[in-house]
Amino acid sequence: MSAQLMDGKLASEELVGALRARVAALPFTPRLTFVRVGDDPASAYYVRSKERLAARVGIVSETRVLPEGTTQDELLGIVEGLNRDPEVDGILVQLPAPGVDESAVLAAIEPDKDVDGLHPVNVGRLWSGRPGLRPATPLGVLALADRYGVPLEGVRAVVVGRSNLVGKPLAAMLLERNATVTLAHSRTRDLAGLCREADVLVAAVGRPGLVQPAMVKPGAAVFDVGLTRVDGKVVGDVSPDVAQVAGWLTPMPGGTGLMTVAMVVANTVEAAVRRRGTAA
Ligand code: NAP
Repeated sequence: MSAQLMDGKLASEELVGALRARVAALPFTPRLTFVRVGDDPASAYYVRSKERLAARVGIVSETRVLPEGTTQDELLGIVEGLNRDPEVDGILVQLPAPGVDESAVLAAIEPDKDVDGLHPVNVGRLWSGRPGLRPATPLGVLALADRYGVPLEGVRAVVVGRSNLVGKPLAAMLLERNATVTLAHSRTRDLAGLCREADVLVAAVGRPGLVQPAMVKPGAAVFDVGLTRVDGKVVGDVSPDVAQVAGWLTPMPGGTGLMTVAMVVANTVEAAVRRRGTAA
């Protein structure tokens, strides 16, 4: 048996096409502002890839690059200005930013412009089942599941990793889709046994090879979110041999990462439509 690969490139291209059509039909152009601090090449790369995709969809974006040494107050001041600017639909501060408390920055962004979906108000909306902007990586995992017909209703889902960025919001979103969810982490006992019970298994840890074939239930859907650079290559948390056991598997690279970028762009369109009150 060999797993069906859940192709993030294909699914994200389909999403881009749909978003482009949606934006073209709007009576306004959505606007997204990125803020990043310093010269970290990884941060610059992530922002560039989101900018490029935003442009393909028809969103106007600008990037404010602040010098290393920018204080937290200066950064918060810039975020405040963007909150007040009626032309700005989405704000994305690329984190981590050196010398800046991440939670203070996330809490300063106007929740309805928070295209990362990480503001405490959006976290509360998610857990209480209200509409709001949701984090991009979990949105991408669910979009791949839907694209490839992975059942979620009533299944046993195990999410390994409990970060605010990925694991916790994904658990909430799987619960919303009526999966029975277990959130595992570094203190979980018998991780292998737990994973073997999962119909849907998500690894969001950042440890190459953490998920081995013997940990996977035959026919399960396995989503590899972890990204680690090893000898210049990006590797996931899931051993490629898992393809011999799983029913569905995301490739790495070419899986969840591409969906994350697409979902940030989708969130910007969503934020613009909600703010400007157009149901298109
Ligand atoms: P994080 O904040 O470092 O969280 C890692 C989680 O993994 C923690 O909950 C930790 O448990 C758990 N963990 C660590 N070692 C473990 C082990 N041996 N067994 C079980 N659980 C273990 O990381 P993150 O921000 O969620 O990111 C996770 C990975 O996803 C990283 O590789 C990151 O680069 C990648 N990522 C990918 C995308 C994408 O689009 N594909 C997006 C975002 C992040 P404790 O809580 O107990 O410490």
